Amino acid sequence: MLLRDARLLSSDVDRVGDLRVVDGRIGAVGDLTPRSDERCLGLDGRTLMPGLVDAHVHFSLSAETTIESVVNMSDAELALAESRNARKTLEAGVTGVRAMGAAGVDLHLKRAVERGDVPGPRMVANGRSITVTGGHGHHLGREIDGPVDARKAVREQVKRGADFIKFMTTGGVTTPGTDPDTVALTDDELDALVDETHRHGLHAATHVHGAEGAKAAALAGVDTIEHGTFLDEEAIELMLSEEVTLVPTLSAPYYIVRNVEWATPDTARKTEHIYERHIDSFARAVEAGVTIAGGTDAGTPFNDHGANAAEVTFMIEHGLSPRAAIEAMTETAARTVGLDDCGTLDEGAHADLLVIQGDPLEDSTRLNAPEAVLFGGELASGYLPTEE
Ligand SMILES: [Zn+2]
Repeated sequence: MLLRDARLLSSDVDRVGDLRVVDGRIGAVGDLTPRSDERCLGLDGRTLMPGLVDAHVHFSLSAETTIESVVNMSDAELALAESRNARKTLEAGVTGVRAMGAAGVDLHLKRAVERGDVPGPRMVANGRSITVTGGHGHHLGREIDGPVDARKAVREQVKRGADFIKFMTTGGVTTPGTDPDTVALTDDELDALVDETHRHGLHAATHVHGAEGAKAAALAGVDTIEHGTFLDEEAIELMLSEEVTLVPTLSAPYYIVRNVEWATPDTARKTEHIYERHIDSFARAVEAGVTIAGGTDAGTPFNDHGANAAEVTFMIEHGLSPRAAIEAMTETAARTVGLDDCGTLDEGAHADLLVIQGDPLEDSTRLNAPEAVLFGGELASGYLPTEE
């Protein structure tokens, strides 16, 4: 298939040209001559760009107000909810995700998507997220106490097929009784978690709100910090020197703040307190040159699956250029989470593509509703122009 006369847009391409899809991958990009038997579609100047990659989603959560409604779900119920959320995500133009774990259903969903049994984006998944006893996300996570148990918890996830390991360095907003500013894991536990993760060749992602948590995690050698809500100068310096990528998840507090009357009092109180500081923290990290990978925390309260592209707009509003924001949520996110051959228009990359009416650099909300989403060269949602 040849997609013709498109404005080709990626982190390193911005030109008018053609793109050839061969066996689900990008075969060639440039000024191409149609082959005699080739299907040709004229895009008439529409933007053709890589599908978005969301570095932080929760398919197990469906934007419910409280975690309680999810805790009591059976694995069968979770599997159905997760497959619906995966389909909504793909249809919205997100063709790759890092799924932050819950009960462990994600790993089954990932394999089902790979087999083509259910529609969904390419996934990396972690099994259960690791937290201290009673810590953030303990309802669905693996609780640990001490460095020996920390290693065992990592090994358990690896045994189940985890692509990366996630743990909670600080408390969280949506878990009652935990404090976002307090460092929950000890240095010994952090060192054990990171060392065991890297021993298996995986990357270590950690949930962090407070600055002390960010410093401890960076010093322990984590690869990504999620949220990074209260970063101070020292935390930002450490993230730079230790080459830690920030996944800001600006969508998460945005939706809670805008729906505060429906949030639980505990969640509302914590979020109002942190929203402004979260934005400021992100802006300072961008200014300092910290690597940013786009992620939404989709599934958290009022933060629904399929609204992921709004994160690009939030990142632009609070400090990234439009080009940098799109790069953060395509190429950088893919590289950060280990989704190979995604997020670019390189030859050989998966033909996971968005057809966008208009210029997303001028108006990033154009990303919210792609005219067509191609996944492995096949139409996943929307429509393509008729054949030439
Ligand atoms: Zn999250």
